[in-house]
Amino acid sequence: MNGKVIIPLVEGDGVGPEVTSAMCKVLDAAVRRAYGDSRGIEWKEVLAGGKAYEQCGTYLPDATIDAFRQYGIGIKGPLMTPVGGGIRSLNVALRQGLDLYVCQRPVRWFRGVVSPVKHPENVDMVIFRENTEDIYAGIEWEAESPEARKLYEFLRDGMGVNKVRFPDTSAFGIKPVSREGTERLVRAACRYALEQGRPSVTLVHKGNIMKYTEGGFKKWGYELAEREFGDAIASGKLVIKDCIADAFLQNALLKPQEYSVIATLNLNGDYISDMLAAQVGGIGIAPGANINYDSGLAIFEATHGTAPDIAGRNVVNPCSNILSGVMMLEHIGWNEAASLVVESLEDAFSAGVATADLARLMPEGKPVGTVEFTEYIVNTIDRI
Ligand code: NAD
Repeated sequence: MNGKVIIPLVEGDGVGPEVTSAMCKVLDAAVRRAYGDSRGIEWKEVLAGGKAYEQCGTYLPDATIDAFRQYGIGIKGPLMTPVGGGIRSLNVALRQGLDLYVCQRPVRWFRGVVSPVKHPENVDMVIFRENTEDIYAGIEWEAESPEARKLYEFLRDGMGVNKVRFPDTSAFGIKPVSREGTERLVRAACRYALEQGRPSVTLVHKGNIMKYTEGGFKKWGYELAEREFGDAIASGKLVIKDCIADAFLQNALLKPQEYSVIATLNLNGDYISDMLAAQVGGIGIAPGANINYDSGLAIFEATHGTAPDIAGRNVVNPCSNILSGVMMLEHIGWNEAASLVVESLEDAFSAGVATADLARLMPEGKPVGTVEFTEYIVNTIDRI
């Protein structure tokens, strides 16, 4: 992709405007430095969250969804979860509405970052978290509601279920996990591993207990890999393995170097990505993307929330959003600009220059504000 690209941009709520402004400045500087005037990004603001509600009376206007569809790409700051009303989460609504079935989260250590583990450099994984199914589908009923009662009666009288310990006060949730949903996720993970020269895909599941849902994920995942990637597996280019989720949480801490690409269900992926992010420095530097690998539509986003406790105070770490921007540059093939950003961030961290969340852990740490950190990175990009 050459020339100018138009990128729909959601500023986000809370700390969103601060991290979005930082991300745009850093990416613009890197693209300018890498390609001069021959390439550039035109940021096209689209609305979601509080700003959308103020201006349009709705949290997620159709125009925003249409812009993401039209341009096939976008980047967003964190969005608050509206209290009350019909929307459970704007992020979940976006992912499900656009069928962005992969939540991709790369987790690696950056030079200079202090981590709670001895060898954070051994963590280099890319998580493929299923985004549209599992308990996140939002099919659940409140305890003691008529719907919960009706469902229980159906289970008891129609299905012979007698295992609900406290039926009168139980809430119920339904966990759909399908063969198709599993196959498209595992296919994307295997293709990614082969394209990026990564050695293995690990299916992380809890199939020992949830035999048909999580166990189905494991079974369908292996079958798909064997059917579609049999040659790569036979030649040793790709290893497919699996791990039970609780064991994986231990192993990822004790021997992270054994894992590369992780394919997992929605809820497991949520826990795993936060734990791995903590191993390499925390949610302040954890990027992500939501992707539909069939249509190619990709929306990049920081993994943290709106951080209302620090919003507007010039202390938020913008790196999660900046690194989501790096993923976006790589996605469109602008790898030179992406590398410049990573190199500049590592230079800053190695010099102890970081926002307070990271700097306070660094032996020579010099905490700087969000704006000052951004200026430092832009200057470094111009200089290297
Ligand atoms: P949060 O991620 O906003 O904050 C958790 C803690 O981490 C806070 O103490 C915060 O100050 C700190 N923190 C987060 N990001 C940081 C950063 N970049 N730099 C420094 N410190 C940072 O999670 P929360 O408080 O549970 O959620 C707040 C709101 O955000 C809720 O409405 C939630 O639904 C929403 N949320 C949105 C997203 C998203 O848009 N992707 C993700 C998670 C939560």
